[in-house]
Amino acid sequence: MEKELTIDEIQNFEGKYPKQLWHLFFSEMWERFSFYGMRGMLVFFMVHQLSMNEVVANLQYGATQAFVYAFTFVGGLFADKILGLRKSLFWGGLLMIVGSVILALDPKEFFFLGIGFNIIGTGFFKPTISSIVGNLYRNGDHRTDAGFSLFYAGVNLGALLGGYLCIAIGKGQLFQSFIPAHLAWNVAFGLAAIVMIISLLTFVRTQRSLGSIGTSPLISAEPKKRKIMEIATYIGSLLIIPFIILLVSNSEYTDIFMFIIGPCSLLYLFFEMRRFSVDENKKLLAALIFILFSIFFWAFFEQSGGSLSLFAANNLSSTVAGIPLDPNGVNNSANSLFVIIFAGLLGLVWIWLAKRRMEPNTIVKFGLGFLFLAAGFYVFYYTKFFSDENGITSLDFFTFGWFIITFGELCLSPIGMSIMTKLSPQKTQAVLMGMWFLASAYGQYFAGLLGANIAEASENATNFEKLVIYADGYKQLAIYALVAGLLLIAISPLVKKLMGGVK
Ligand code: GLN
Repeated sequence: MEKELTIDEIQNFEGKYPKQLWHLFFSEMWERFSFYGMRGMLVFFMVHQLSMNEVVANLQYGATQAFVYAFTFVGGLFADKILGLRKSLFWGGLLMIVGSVILALDPKEFFFLGIGFNIIGTGFFKPTISSIVGNLYRNGDHRTDAGFSLFYAGVNLGALLGGYLCIAIGKGQLFQSFIPAHLAWNVAFGLAAIVMIISLLTFVRTQRSLGSIGTSPLISAEPKKRKIMEIATYIGSLLIIPFIILLVSNSEYTDIFMFIIGPCSLLYLFFEMRRFSVDENKKLLAALIFILFSIFFWAFFEQSGGSLSLFAANNLSSTVAGIPLDPNGVNNSANSLFVIIFAGLLGLVWIWLAKRRMEPNTIVKFGLGFLFLAAGFYVFYYTKFFSDENGITSLDFFTFGWFIITFGELCLSPIGMSIMTKLSPQKTQAVLMGMWFLASAYGQYFAGLLGANIAEASENATNFEKLVIYADGYKQLAIYALVAGLLLIAISPLVKKLMGGVK
């Protein structure tokens, strides 16, 4: 049998990427296929199969997304304290498989049960796999950001495939000649289950190459005590599922939950900080600044699933570069496609700049992220000048907006994950990653509120008036994003001080 690698052997890899990154790449790719595949079906399934009205469906969709990301904090906590990254990832993957199998068996009858399993499962899986990526690198290794960019391409490859295939199968638009119509949704959710199994198998078959990364944090505790705590975590996470189902199926509870979880996570972090040195705490403070700004970023960015999808449906033409395409499909997938094409490239640009000592530091990259976001939203606003009298405007130009925003996302999202692993002491790795994703939960939540405001203003308007109202809304968002970007760049010297030597 191959001998287990030491942490030094892993981190002293040659070349641009450690080989373990490829294993994690594929595991995460299949997991995101499953996750985005299911996510892409939710609203449609709720409206057309569960006969919910659209407002309720949207609210419940928002609730599921907020909960998914909120539970990454809880999952991260148990990963850091009890299970360790690897067992946590395995347990999360298992719960996701169970959730998607339940949905595949009878999506109508067991809808919320399946979703409940998936929420908890993602909570264990998502922050831990991202933290493991960070562990492949030595502190200060300038190749870290490039690694996260590549990993992020895997995320989006999965998102693109799953997001497109599952809904197309469910709606009966793909493979309808050999999938009986009454089983189309079962097959669609079944596909999500199969790829999740592939994800977990990929991890199980390759985890040996991780050496001691992600093993139990209780390694020095008494084995019996450790077992009891692990089993209690497994049982506890199953017992909480009925509670999650209750919260998600009554979306008014989402407000209360969101009100509580953020402050609790902060209190917890402050509580942990009392044991760390001043330098470590300064770094954690810097991490909190990144997390805070990322909430705004996601609140704007996640208009994609909400107001932008209505904008696409009402106001966009149906061709890109002369090719007939569904504007909603383009709104859903253009971004992932651009990430796949450009993530690796941008990663190489960072390495190239680093070699010449010209790489901007993370806080400036974040600032750039907001500037790209602002420019992209300005393009969305500008579509109004290409409109015909019916309020239909250019899908080409809209797609160009996503192209620009993608660079913003690449300056913030993979780099944000990377910096969380660099700024956190070993003991709070997954919790901090969980907080990073918790910011996404708030982003999702505020995105819904922002989108609802824009939508409300356009009630009873003609299609042309709608275009103008939406476009003007996006101009506002562009201005806010610009201000946030400039602010970040202005405070960068201060944050840099907090970060110590971390870049
Ligand atoms: N699209 C990325 C992913 O799925 C980022 C998600 C997020 O942080 N909101 O991993």
